[in-house]
Amino acid sequence: MPFQLTDESLSFFIEKCKRNKLKITPQRIVIYKELLKSTDHPHAEALHKRIKKIIPGISLDTVNRTLLTFAKIGIVKNVEGYGEPRRYDPKIEKHHHFRCIECNAIIDFEYKPYDDIIVPGDIQNRYFILNRKVLLEGYCDKCGKKR
Ligand SMILES: [Zn+2]
Ligand SMILES: [Zn+2]
Repeated sequence: MPFQLTDESLSFFIEKCKRNKLKITPQRIVIYKELLKSTDHPHAEALHKRIKKIIPGISLDTVNRTLLTFAKIGIVKNVEGYGEPRRYDPKIEKHHHFRCIECNAIIDFEYKPYDDIIVPGDIQNRYFILNRKVLLEGYCDKCGKKR
């Protein structure tokens, strides 16, 4: 079945754009759609390759800037802690990541006990915690087999 942008994700997108006074252009919708159907947490270049098939003339710089804007207003998330190039996550609901240290695959998973993970007291007292996220690292099934 071809990917379809659900009304729910589209209205989320439109609402976020409106609230942040970002013009909703066909180009922005295409970029958002492509990211939304990506499950590999792509960086701008990887996403640019996919978008070029739909909008042949689009530049990498445009994709890059659009993604940065999306991240700034909270439409997408930056995958933290992987250095450059910056990778993007279309899933803004609570979830955790497994990262393969060999091929850099980032795989989503959900696990309720991690959502409520306990923050050490001294950290809790010192900082204002907004987010708790667990990162597991290791070898994915493909890379694990090669070892
Ligand atoms: Zn791997
Ligand atoms: Zn993710």
